[in-house]
Amino acid sequence: MSLSPAIRFVLVGTQHPGNMGSAARAMRTMGFTRMVLVAPEKAPNHETDAMAAGAESLVREAPVFASLAEAVADCGLVLGCTARSRRVALEELAPPLAAERALSAAAKGREVALVFGRERTGLTNEELQLCHAAIHIPSDPDFSSLNLAAAVQVIAYAVRMGQLMHGTGVVGTSIQDAENETDPPASHQDLEGFFGQLDATLHAIDFHKGRAPESAMRKLRRIFLRNALSIKEVRLLRGVLADAQRMAMLAGKQV
Ligand code: SAH
Repeated sequence: MSLSPAIRFVLVGTQHPGNMGSAARAMRTMGFTRMVLVAPEKAPNHETDAMAAGAESLVREAPVFASLAEAVADCGLVLGCTARSRRVALEELAPPLAAERALSAAAKGREVALVFGRERTGLTNEELQLCHAAIHIPSDPDFSSLNLAAAVQVIAYAVRMGQLMHGTGVVGTSIQDAENETDPPASHQDLEGFFGQLDATLHAIDFHKGRAPESAMRKLRRIFLRNALSIKEVRLLRGVLADAQRMAMLAGKQV
């Protein structure tokens, strides 16, 4: 199940109607549909539709609030995007880490808000105070401010990548927990059983050919340990080894 419905993109005090449309398009391309508006300076208009390029329903259906506090009242995690790095007394996250936080909160059933400020002045300090952390896209410090919709695109992409990299996750548990429920990680004991069988198989197929087996085993262990195998994956690998062992035995009988 997708976590995207738990994540809303909040545009605060947007000044250009076209930007609402561009932001909607940016969201929609990354699989997000929940836009929330806070006191837009101008109502959405034909420029909005032109820039939305088919995603205008996100703006049309967006709830409009008078203040950010109202727009995020039901949220368990609020992250405020700011072009001004390190000038806020908030923890500052780069987009990948922010995406991870957002997805893990959404997986726990919390509502998540990603908040974007005004084109000219960004978010006020009071608005940032409502956020649990700030997100800063690490832009060139001498030219740090992205266009509003470009910032929405970068953040939406980061969250989408987070989702794709972790699988979609299931609402109600963290992404990691959700994965673990269906495919828990292999224990130390599972892995040692696998390595024992791998060692035996390498002997059976005469992989070492007189060389000391330790060096190859050390490298092979490193490969498998690096990949944090699950129980199911270890089972699959052991199935492959079992067949290799069987074939080696058959071949041994033939000679
Ligand atoms: N001059 C404004 C820039 C506003 S740009 C300022 O100093 O804040 C409009 C919005 O896009 C910002 O409020 C922020 O939410 C987002 N944004 C632009 N550049 C960003 C960046 N480098 N990192 C994170 N968010 C950014």
